[in-house]
Amino acid sequence: MKTIGLIGGMSWESSLEYYRILNETVKEKLGGMHSAKSLMYSVDFEDVEKLQYKGDWEKLTELMVEAARNLEAGGADLVIICTNTMHKMAEEVQAGVKIPLLHIADASAEKIMERGIKTVGLLGTKFTMEEDFYKGKLIEEFGIDVVIPSEEERQVVHDVIYNELCLGKVTPASKEKFKKIIQNLVSKGAEGVILGCTEIPLLIKQQDVEIPLFDTTEIHAKAAVEYALR
Ligand code: GLU
Repeated sequence: MKTIGLIGGMSWESSLEYYRILNETVKEKLGGMHSAKSLMYSVDFEDVEKLQYKGDWEKLTELMVEAARNLEAGGADLVIICTNTMHKMAEEVQAGVKIPLLHIADASAEKIMERGIKTVGLLGTKFTMEEDFYKGKLIEEFGIDVVIPSEEERQVVHDVIYNELCLGKVTPASKEKFKKIIQNLVSKGAEGVILGCTEIPLLIKQQDVEIPLFDTTEIHAKAAVEYALR
């Protein structure tokens, strides 16, 4: 079994989920007392969030590259960044280490393709929904069309992520808002919806909606296990 290196803490609420899923999946596959071999480099999210707000992506890139290098030096055989947003600097992180980086959008795109879905809705932080680093990859590398919520809805999703989910707050009111936003994505042609923020699965589950959901936390963690056991 290879050792999975996780860049976590963004937020730790979702890193916990990664840790749980990695171990549950290894146990499921290998049985007995088996658990995932892993290392986590967990950052202080307050620092990260402040730099994101300021738009200091250069400093954030340095931070992510340094985290990946520490994991590599510690013996990790692969690295995963446990947030969709911080894949904005995925290329730089990969260039900074010799071990492979498993990209969250690649893992998700594979699942979307498996379901034969051509148009997908994307929920995440404003960075993820509005910029090209994530959507662009789905469109250009996989030919998957991406629809996003309206500007007003994007603000709602973004605010719920940072003001609630990253602080461990899960409220019925926000769940209702997300369900409505998902419904509007369906009206725009979405055949499935990517929960493109690793905390959203804490709020919205498949049983809450009819449309297929792509839980990036689960997909990414399981892809890491698959690689580790290959
Ligand atoms: N975990 C979130 C994501 O998947 C947001 C937190 C962050 O800014 O990294 O995008």
